[in-house]
Amino acid sequence: MPRMSLKEKLEVLADAAKYDASCASSATAKRDSRKGGIGSTEGMGICHAYAPDGRCISLLKILLTNYCQFDCHYCINRKSSSVRRAAFSVQEVVDLTLGFYRRNYIEGLFLSSGIIRSPDHTMEQLVEVARKLREEHGFHGYIHLKTIPDADPEIVAQAGLWADRVSINIELPTASALTRLAPDKSEARITSAMADMKEAIVEAKDAARRFKSAPRFAPAGQSTQMIVGADAATDTQIVDRAASLYRGFGMRRVYYSAFSPIPDASAVLPLRRPPLMREHRLYQSDWLMRFYGYEPHDIRDAADNGMLPLDVDPKLAWALKFREAFPVDVNRAERERLLRVPGLGVKAVTTMLSVRRHRRLRLDDVARLTQSIAKVRPFIVTADWRPTLLTDRADLRRLLAPREEQLELFAA
Ligand code: SF4
Repeated sequence: MPRMSLKEKLEVLADAAKYDASCASSATAKRDSRKGGIGSTEGMGICHAYAPDGRCISLLKILLTNYCQFDCHYCINRKSSSVRRAAFSVQEVVDLTLGFYRRNYIEGLFLSSGIIRSPDHTMEQLVEVARKLREEHGFHGYIHLKTIPDADPEIVAQAGLWADRVSINIELPTASALTRLAPDKSEARITSAMADMKEAIVEAKDAARRFKSAPRFAPAGQSTQMIVGADAATDTQIVDRAASLYRGFGMRRVYYSAFSPIPDASAVLPLRRPPLMREHRLYQSDWLMRFYGYEPHDIRDAADNGMLPLDVDPKLAWALKFREAFPVDVNRAERERLLRVPGLGVKAVTTMLSVRRHRRLRLDDVARLTQSIAKVRPFIVTADWRPTLLTDRADLRRLLAPREEQLELFAA
């Protein structure tokens, strides 16, 4: 095979990394500066992620290699795929990261890899990139390393010494789907690697509290990703799985990636991708569980036959099913009940709780805190508003469902 230039490798290995949603900037309109103008949404290589302090940062998102000895059906880099292959050396990734950083293109690195030679060898290479950047070049930027669950736990643990965040993909919501679609992977090995990482993160936090000089260890925690729509798992199975990952392994984030048909796809996969709205509804449910006090059983209640409705968001779906819980008096109700009101976010609820200590809230006050007072009105009582029959109207869902439009997940 002819030697590839660094630029060619970058094209192949940045493109190969785009299927990982853990730092997604996908789903926007297709624009390409190679056809004129400035800026591309098509070219791969730089993605955006949120740092632990909430800043949106640009990351160089690449694979070390897209050679892989595993044969996961859903993956374009699987061994039986005829995709063009490339591999960076450790030093090439280090140089690229530093070069991009110095030119102010990026603030960090997101590095994953196919499995070459052995899981241990691959993991060692990933760790070596991060070590060199930190130890030899004093790199203080953000580093997110994907880890290889089949590698020796000692090597996996080293990733946490250099990276801000580590992730181990659970890949599929059920063990049976994993066996069928990723025959080389084992759920037991994945969850055991997650458990080890959680323990190491907890120990490091504890040590940091007691000793100033304790080494930092994956300060941005661990995350994982689940592919949606490649198997028959329902939304409620996915949500239950996500909840168990948050609970059991202290995940900072679970990412959902709608399965997208890949070139040269395996015959065991569906031919069509699930609606992007399905992925969006799962993110909304995830948000409800993490910030609004919803439990997995609430999400199950909002679903029909295990699937979340696509026409309304899960919070509204729940409220429409449990109308006896409304209207909620915004001048009296406790925080938990206010957070159940469709259209009221955490910030709006916090503001309302603070303002009502001084005066009674009117409908206009609430309108200033929400994007759509029409959505909120049927579910609240204010000093000057009571919905009377509106809450129980049979056609309330139709009145509140947004008009159908093409979804752009990351539209401004
Ligand atoms: S191990 Fe990773 S890179 Fe290799 S085929 Fe499976 S998902 Fe793709």
